Amino acid sequence: MKLYNTLGRELEEFKPRDDVVKIYTCGPTVYAEAHIGNLTAYIYWDLLVRALRTNGYKVKRVLNLTDVGHLVSDADSGEDKLEKGAEREGKSVYEVADYYIEKFRKDYDSLELLQPEIWARATDYIEADMDAVDKMTENGFTYETTDGIYYDTSRFPEYADFAKLDLAGLQAGARVGFSDEKRNISDFAVWKFIKPGEKHAMRWDYLGRPGYPGWHLECATIIHKELGEPIDIHTGGIDHIPVHHSNEIAEMHAMTGRKLSRYWLHCDFITIDGEKVSKSLGNTYSLSNLAERGFSPMDYKMWVLSGHYQGTRNFTFESLESAKNRRLNWRNRIALLYQKVDSTSLGGSCRAFSSPKNDGIFGGPPPCPSPAQNILSSVNNNLNSAEAFAIIDNSELSMEDWQKVDELFGLRLIADSPEISEEVKKLIVERQKAREAKEYAKSDEIRDLLAEQGITVKDTPTGPVWQYLK
Ligand code: AMP
Ligand code: ZN
Repeated sequence: MKLYNTLGRELEEFKPRDDVVKIYTCGPTVYAEAHIGNLTAYIYWDLLVRALRTNGYKVKRVLNLTDVGHLVSDADSGEDKLEKGAEREGKSVYEVADYYIEKFRKDYDSLELLQPEIWARATDYIEADMDAVDKMTENGFTYETTDGIYYDTSRFPEYADFAKLDLAGLQAGARVGFSDEKRNISDFAVWKFIKPGEKHAMRWDYLGRPGYPGWHLECATIIHKELGEPIDIHTGGIDHIPVHHSNEIAEMHAMTGRKLSRYWLHCDFITIDGEKVSKSLGNTYSLSNLAERGFSPMDYKMWVLSGHYQGTRNFTFESLESAKNRRLNWRNRIALLYQKVDSTSLGGSCRAFSSPKNDGIFGGPPPCPSPAQNILSSVNNNLNSAEAFAIIDNSELSMEDWQKVDELFGLRLIADSPEISEEVKKLIVERQKAREAKEYAKSDEIRDLLAEQGITVKDTPTGPVWQYLK
């Protein structure tokens, strides 16, 4: 399997350290409902896990839920996002966190995403965070200011390497607002103190006063505690590279002297109708907003996987409609398999079933090559699901192949494509008889009954076949 590793900025052959692949995925800050942009990451990383499993690896993955410490600005200023959510909704921070965790996990499940082995909630790791700060301080990597314990990035000469940061340039460009007490522009809080009178409901006593952990710390701490460093793969969005992930790496170095992860994968952002996703543009669609317009989570997942995780994708409702139709088309090919009809009868380019009369030598379409291996090869090439989908479009798949497609992409293609009942089958025969007897009123009536069941009948040169309408 080849993966694009942000560490070396190149495609690398993936080799795990042992037989269990350790993966960490930066999860959501649970202060608001996830929008479709947020959800893309979990869809791509689900494909990563499924691909590893298909290749025979065991996977242990941790996904965290940030319920404390993530400030509105990545630069240790502004309000804690959870506090902001609580204010907005007139609830306590814990209620807000519980509510959005449940919502996120519902979205997660509706997208048919594999459960991580561990869901790690940041507030369950506060003791471990304090131990981590102690360790960093003991090792000489921190200093105290009036508002917290800061990481001294000058103590870690490789700090700028991961994100290829121009620290001198950043320092020169620093303006007012940059705390006088910070020694270097890239220094960051590992622990924040709560000043007397400051509102911050989530608080823990540490070093004799109330405070809370800095956002980046939870990921380093959870990895240290649950997986052990270095892990094999760390995933996140490209926005995490310059601050969040650079800081995680620095923290792990200060805590243990070890590397945090061997491979780093980052997915790009989506735009919507060519614009960035933002509240002011009113385009922060959630899965429920898509449902209101007649699109299921699986339609959205089809849309996401029809592109590459490293590409900037532009979401439009037209492209979502195409993804939806593509999925319906695939399900209808499964319907043809139930009827032992190959898709050549509906215009496919090769045939699934051998027929002594028509084996390709005497004319007619040739038999199909087995596509399962090609599909997996595409995914093994840096998760190229777009190419894999094109292979699916252009090959004839057996039921076994469709099962493999479902296992690899989690698209519920077979589960959402049930065989029709005996009753519906009888209706189809009756409709055919009515048509042959030229009783068109009756055949139209049966067509409507079938439509109510979500089924339509198409006439082909080899006779009628049933298909799903939606
Ligand atoms: P936020 O809750 O806005 O901080 O977003 C959480 C994470 O979701 C970000 O750190 C990004 O990695 C990801 N994200 C946000 N917006 C988008 C987008 N438009 N496309 C893809 N990922 C996004
Ligand atoms: Zn993280």
